[in-house]
Parts: sequence; structure tokens; C-alpha cells
Amino acid sequence: MKKIQMTTPLVEMDGDEMTRILWKMIKDELLLPFIDLNTEYYDLGLNYRNETDDQVTIDAAEATKKYGVAVKCATITPNHARMDEYDLKKMYKSPNGTIRAILDGTVFRAPIVVKGIEPCVRNWKKPITLARHAYGDIYKNTEMYIDKPGKVELVYTSEDGEEKRSLVQEFKAPGVAMGMHNMTASIESFARSCFNYALDTKQDVWFGAKDTISKTYDAKFKEVFQTIFDTEFKDKFEEAGLTYFYSLIDDIVARVMKAEGGFIWACKNYDGDVMSDMVSSAFGSLAMMTSVLVSPQGYYEYEAAHGTVQRHYYRHLEGKETSTNSVATIFAWTGALRKRGELDGSQELSDFADKLEKATLSTIESGKMTKDLALITTIENPTVLNSRDFILAIREELEKML
Ligand code: NAD
Repeated sequence: MKKIQMTTPLVEMDGDEMTRILWKMIKDELLLPFIDLNTEYYDLGLNYRNETDDQVTIDAAEATKKYGVAVKCATITPNHARMDEYDLKKMYKSPNGTIRAILDGTVFRAPIVVKGIEPCVRNWKKPITLARHAYGDIYKNTEMYIDKPGKVELVYTSEDGEEKRSLVQEFKAPGVAMGMHNMTASIESFARSCFNYALDTKQDVWFGAKDTISKTYDAKFKEVFQTIFDTEFKDKFEEAGLTYFYSLIDDIVARVMKAEGGFIWACKNYDGDVMSDMVSSAFGSLAMMTSVLVSPQGYYEYEAAHGTVQRHYYRHLEGKETSTNSVATIFAWTGALRKRGELDGSQELSDFADKLEKATLSTIESGKMTKDLALITTIENPTVLNSRDFILAIREELEKML
């Protein structure tokens, strides 16, 4: 069989621990036999990040700007324990944080929906894609203990000396206070990323904030979204038969619980932090969530939403069998290959991505799965496979389709 050719390289970011093991198996069994895989390889494994003083992460992000599409394996974000374990020169920042800062993107997370792994919310039939604003609010706050009576004020001094002042609270007794901010440009980028991704994936956009209570701060988010929509996206949405819907965050949450799914839920930073875990856990498993970073310029970086599955890796090192779920990592590759196919006009490459996803889902639907899914499936007597055998079972399905 002739292998599928690729015209433009995909930026490949390798990673750590168990997901690094899966990465190689996926390439060896599901990609290299069928595609003349054209990638520009960056090793984001912690050892090489340490060797290059983390320059490799910056180079990988810059390459994503050059070529437009990247696929990333899960990576370790170092903490104190990792400093010793990997004998690190310093405590490097999270690679995802570094890449996000360079690409200025929004992260969209979506569950992989498959028969046999049923969401806890019975009426959710289609994935809910969660878009989290990744700048500001309480994540860049300043806080204070108030231990005796006094007043807390919010004071703004412009560069030319103009002053604005408003009272937060006249404290009669001890308490706490907090200041936070956001930037109009960042909210605009977020809105644009959401609307562009909606057109790309043909889904409606829902957005909720608390503008009835926060009449300036949250009202600004509502206004920015509406202005960007009206001036830049209204016609394109009408043409595509899509809608943008704003409501109060509490109303949105209530509607989400009753909805069928199949839309993008844009969330402010904190809401997105909380709601993405609710959505992923209600859909079944963290190992079935994909994640894509979309920049306002249209660069894409695909990955699994989960981490490096450290516990399984230590078992693997002891020579014990593991049953690690590779689905989200496979879908990171298919997402990236499909996008590359679209951008390069290669139908063959996009079709291959579709088939590999179908083969993965039908493997699970036929009852063959990893242990994490076997514990939650509605399929009776599932066959639990180890990490490698699950990938080999997918290969068998894929070969039937090609
Ligand atoms: P994790 O996602 O690796 O694991 C969390 C839990 O979910 C574990 O109990 C694990 O057994 C289970 N799990 C996750 N993915 C699974 C899979 N594919 N198959 C079966 N079970 C799965 O998160 P963690 O343990 O908190 O972190 C481990 C490492 O991953 C840390 O060093 C952290 O910095 C890193 N991390 C990286 C990313 C990323 O690169 N995007 C995201 C999160 C965590």
C-alpha cells in the first residue's frame, strides 16, 4: 500500500513518562505504517528541556507559528520533587504556559463521546466544548488580610496623575479584601478565538457572565463579546446557520444541564477552571478529553487534556503491565493531521484522521478497552487490554477500513 504523503511538516512535541511511551507506540503502530510522516521534532521531555535551559519549548512554540499546526504529548510541570528526581538546573515553568504565552491562544477542551461510556447527564448526547479565558481575574489578583477597623479603597492613578477612587468596604472588624483586573485586548482575543473556532467546528457559542451584579467588570465582558460578534462575525454565523447566545452564568449553567450538547461554552477564567472539570468528569473520564490551543492568528496546537500518568509509568519501569488509555493522545494526532490536511488541501490525510478516530471508537464499542474505561462502561463483560494490545486492536480495526 502506498503511504499518504504530507507537504508541510507538523510540529511534533514529544513529552514525558507514560504518555511518552504511548506516543511512540501510536507512531509505530497507527501512523508510520500508513503515512510518510513529515514532522519537525521537538523533544519537550524534561531531560532535554533541562539540557537546553527550556529553549526547546520556545523553539517548538515558534515553529508552531511558522507552520501553523502542532501536536503535543503531555509533559511534566516541575515541582520540588521533580527537581531531585530529574536533577534540574531550575524549576522550569509549565511548557503549556510558555507555549500559551507565545501563541496567545484560547484552550478548547472537548470530550470524546463513544457508545458504552455514557455521560452522567442523560440528555448530553453530543460533546460540550469548553473554552476557558486564560488571562486575569482571580489568577492575577492581589489580596489582603484586614485585621483591624479601617477602609479599603480601589485607587487608580493614571500616568499623568489623574486619580479615580472608590470605596470597597469600611471595615468595622477583621476581614479580607481582593483586587483583580482584566485587559480589553485579552477579552477581545478570547471572543475572536471562540467565534473563529465555532465557525471552524460548526457549533453555536454560549457565553455567560454575571453582569447584573458586576455592572462594570462582567458587563465589559458581555459588551466586548457582543461588539466583536456584531461587527466581525454576525454575517458569517448567519451564513453558517449558527448562533451566539449570551445569558447570565447561572441561567447558562441551568440550561447546560438540560441541553443536548454540541455547542461551545465560553467561560471566564474561574468559571472555565471549575466547569471544565465538571464537564469532563460528567462525560466519563479525563482520559477521554481532547484539548486544542487556538491562537487568534489561526495557529493550532492539539493535545490530550490529561497529564503524563505518572503512576502507570512507575509500574512500567518496574516491568509490570499497564493499561493506560491512549484515546485522547490518538485524537490529538488525528486533530492535528486533519487540520494539516485541510490547510494543505490533502483530502487523503483528513480522511485518514477520520478513519483512525472511527477505528478507535469502534474498538471501544466492540468491548475492547483499557481498564479506566472498563470500570465505567455500560457494555457488559468488556475485554480489558494492556496499553500496547489496545493500540494493536485499534490497528486491526483501522486496517479493515483502509
Ligand atoms: P494525570 O492526568 O497524569 O493523572 C490524573 C489521574 O487520572 C490519575 O489517577 C491517572 O491514573 C488518571 N489518568 C489520567 N490520564 C489517564 C490515562 N490516559 N489512562 C488512564 N488513567 C489516566 O495528572 P497528574 O497525576 O496530576 O500529573 C502527572 C504529571 O502530569 C505531572 O507531572 C503534571 O505536571 C503533568 N501534567 C501535564 C499536563 C499537560 O502536559 N497537559 C496536564 C496535567 C498534568
